[in-house]
Amino acid sequence: MKYAPVQNYINGQFTHCSSSKTLDVISPVDGTHLSTVPLSAASDLDQAVKAAKAAFPAWSKTPIKERVQVFFRYKTLLEKNLKELALLCSEENGKTYGESAAEIEKCIELTEFATSLPQLITGELLEVSKGVECRTEHVPLGVVASIVPFNFPAMVPNWTIPNAIALGNCMIIKPSEKVPLCCGKLAELLKEAGLPDGVFNIVHGDVEIVEAICDHPAIEAVSFVGSTKVAKIVYKRATNNYKRCLALGGAKNHLMVLPDAIPGMTAQNVAASMSGCAGQRCMAASAMVGVGPVDHIIEKICEEARKIIPGENLGAVINKASQERIESYITEAEKQGAKILVDGRNAKVKGKENGTYVGPTVIDYVTPDMAVAKEEIFGPVISIIRTNTVDEALAIENANPYGNAASVFTQNGGMARYIIEKASAGMIGVNVGVPVPREPFSFGGWNESKFGVGDITGKSSIEFWTKLKKSTVKWNPEAGINWMS
Ligand code: NAD
Repeated sequence: MKYAPVQNYINGQFTHCSSSKTLDVISPVDGTHLSTVPLSAASDLDQAVKAAKAAFPAWSKTPIKERVQVFFRYKTLLEKNLKELALLCSEENGKTYGESAAEIEKCIELTEFATSLPQLITGELLEVSKGVECRTEHVPLGVVASIVPFNFPAMVPNWTIPNAIALGNCMIIKPSEKVPLCCGKLAELLKEAGLPDGVFNIVHGDVEIVEAICDHPAIEAVSFVGSTKVAKIVYKRATNNYKRCLALGGAKNHLMVLPDAIPGMTAQNVAASMSGCAGQRCMAASAMVGVGPVDHIIEKICEEARKIIPGENLGAVINKASQERIESYITEAEKQGAKILVDGRNAKVKGKENGTYVGPTVIDYVTPDMAVAKEEIFGPVISIIRTNTVDEALAIENANPYGNAASVFTQNGGMARYIIEKASAGMIGVNVGVPVPREPFSFGGWNESKFGVGDITGKSSIEFWTKLKKSTVKWNPEAGINWMS
């Protein structure tokens, strides 16, 4: 085993878990046994909640301008430790070093946003009647929880850590049991940055601990990022227990390609979007809807896809089960009559025979009823559906139950505007393959890609991680009494 067993992190210390149940942590890159992760029990969560509750009074009373100083230092530490974190991220998740380095850069950008919160969180004050003032303040919630997926071991935790904590909350994070290592390193950096013990805690595990989080009476809010199936379970259970919950789910993102799209740029974007992080991004292009004659662009997409080599500029998928699931989607589409233009099945990487790789795959003549057209594949696969009109393309996009992202490739501004208006997704791109809004804009989808109100990052996160206090104040008895005093 390459690393020591993973431990929970409670009250500023790495601690043993009360349960003896563990899972192996295996690197998708080459099958190396990296570590083991404990499957915590509800009693471990109790310890973490106790620590977070004890830390809350002092942390929430620390002025926000002082709280964000921790995040200025944390940002510098992320920069200093970028290489180490990126290597760890690649090892446990399977993405390439370049993709992991970009992930840490994004953590830095997210932290930078949190340091600007004092500028954004100022309340309002108005004299509403003679001498009577109404004032609003954003108040932290208390102990909050963040449940995260495997595909961004550092970035998704940082969607929530800097904002929730800078806003005065104390957090318990539940990393994915498939990639538990990066979060431990983040805990070390937060401590080095001066975060008081108990403000940030990690409890590892799987279903049992997620259920315990949703049920724990002292946890005020739960954020979740993962598949739609689990997002629904978590949202239902947490809100049923009267908690605030924001649960981000899976995706099936459509790229609409019009005949006037710039071929080279479009092909590069489509290929990069479907294969980046081995297609394991909730913003990845998964279906391309070609409108009219786009064969010349499809040819170029295939050329670009063939330049993407597993183990070189394409990382591994998370595990064997995932590899088999992705390959079975391709095989099923082939059986149903789709044409495999670039075939990523049976990918082998020399010297990494125990790694789990799928090569880039382009499937043409997909029909809207096929599973590859409708379901989230979460691998480096693009399914091409051909249509004659933009409205047909939009009908396909609109019919999908998800709604994370959609993009259009065209040079026609009016058409782009029309698609922005009609697409049923929270994040839309024009000539952009991965339309992730950058800070300070918020990240969040629609439909079955998100349950709950608001978005998880950017300005919108302020509303999720705080509650509004409204005070009405009068100090001047000489103003007399009227209907409102
Ligand atoms: P997942 O839903 O399997 O797991 C997410 C978290 O839930 C993990 O921490 C896991 O331990 C826990 N979990 C798993 N099954 C559970 C259950 N039955 N009950 C309670 N908890 C459970 O997701 P994943 O495979 O880790 O991540 C991939 C998915 O996440 C994809 O669907 C992807 O689209 C989605 N995702 C969405 C976004 C977004 O912003 N919408 C971002 C990243 C990933």
